[in-house]
Amino acid sequence: MSDCVFCSIATGKIPSDMVYQDEQLVAFRDLNPQAPVHVLIIPRAHLASLAEAGPEHGPVLGHVLLAAGEIARQEGVGDGYRVVNNCGESAGQTVFHVHFHLLGGRDMGWPPG
Ligand code: 5GP
Ligand code: ZN
Repeated sequence: MSDCVFCSIATGKIPSDMVYQDEQLVAFRDLNPQAPVHVLIIPRAHLASLAEAGPEHGPVLGHVLLAAGEIARQEGVGDGYRVVNNCGESAGQTVFHVHFHLLGGRDMGWPPG
């Protein structure tokens, strides 16, 4: 999608601090980190939100969760981290290309705000 900021990051059109990439996904540091480790993991293929996912997206979404563990270990927070998806405006989604926040490096509260 040409006007999507995360599509542009995935193709390298917009620069980012990338920590992991493969054929299906890219992971880069959040511009406004909420924890010492704050990485965004996105499928390369545009999908607006988790609410729009269908069975065909199952493999890439599973791959994101497995990659999150790998990246957490790579970032030194493999023993405790959080993976968050904000789905929809009321849940705090601001960029409508599905993404998963990988947060770690500090104690986390519950419930989230
Ligand atoms: P959301 O609120 O949609 O769950 O998360 C969007 C996240 O994307 C926010 O944490 C925000 O800081 C991050 N973000 C927005 N634009 C950019 C950008 O251009 N580059 C990077 N690295 N992060 C971005
Ligand atoms: Zn996109």
